[in-house]
Amino acid sequence: MRIVISEFMDEAAVSGLAARHDTLYDKGLVDRPDALRAALPGAHALIVRNRTQVNRQMLAVAPSLKVIGRLGVGLDNIDVDACRERGIEVIPATGANALAVAEYVIGAAMFLLRGAYSSSAAVAQGKWPRATLSNGRELAGKTLGIVGFGGIGRLAGRLGRALGMRVIGFDAQIAPYAKIWSDEATAAYGLDALLAEADVITLHVPLVDATRHLIDATQLGRMKPGAILINTSRGGVVDESAVATALKEGRLGGAALDVFEREPLAAGSPLVDCPNLLLTPHIAGVTAESNTRVSAMIAEKVAAVLARIRTAG
Ligand code: NAD
Repeated sequence: MRIVISEFMDEAAVSGLAARHDTLYDKGLVDRPDALRAALPGAHALIVRNRTQVNRQMLAVAPSLKVIGRLGVGLDNIDVDACRERGIEVIPATGANALAVAEYVIGAAMFLLRGAYSSSAAVAQGKWPRATLSNGRELAGKTLGIVGFGGIGRLAGRLGRALGMRVIGFDAQIAPYAKIWSDEATAAYGLDALLAEADVITLHVPLVDATRHLIDATQLGRMKPGAILINTSRGGVVDESAVATALKEGRLGGAALDVFEREPLAAGSPLVDCPNLLLTPHIAGVTAESNTRVSAMIAEKVAAVLARIRTAG
């Protein structure tokens, strides 16, 4: 059976697939849509990360396609409805990069609360900003507010608890009396109450109509003065201009943003020159270890679908 891989995949996983299937691996295909379309007729499986746009036009040139493996979790770049109509299975690497994101959240929270890790240049030059850096905050004893209590939210909560944080959570699709809250030693809150009580707020929701600009100027206004906001979920879940204003006015104590409404950011973004702001290029879930886990999981699941089809056919 034929497999096309259009973006970076761990070599060991690619070799495992190539040993059993006719496999075209070209991580540059994502940037050459004509070449990708030319490779698709006859393909039974397509493996992508988050940049390959799998839309109806692309599916139309892939009549044999049975399965799409997504090296990550968000499905924003795949027309899932069109795949369902065609009976194409879409497989995300659910859970494989959760730990990387959860560690990013804790690292960012410590960095922003303490505020002491950006003094290297000053200290090397003989300055001694001890007084200004002596008022940083500790993580233990702070309240971690988790918005979206799915796989990543729960893991972030466990890490926070292990470091002495109190954990509260809001999830629009999990009832406050559901057992998962007590299993995870997390108090279920409404969103407004969570925002008012948490010292560190971390977002782990999908981007859907209900979560677009979930954190806007009004919600930022509900947060405790000096609170920290971390968004590793999807751009669009926070209003970037409102975050910039809250940071510049000193109401928000700090923010870490890994995802943006437009990636890369457009010139003239309001996020330029904001204080206590950590910006990263959508890498919270991407580590050496998670790349290996994600690729191995997708290789195994795609191979299982192809084996099933081969047996059935
Ligand atoms: P998940 O599906 O396990 O959890 C999402 C949770 O959000 C669910 O429990 C759901 O009930 C809840 N939810 C849905 N709508 C909601 C709403 N309106 N209000 C509150 N809660 C709501 O997903 P996950 O694997 O934990 O991933 C969470 C997010 O992280 C996704 O957006 C995903 O795309 C993103 N992500 C980013 C990176 C990165 O590198 N930055 C890596 C992995 C995942």
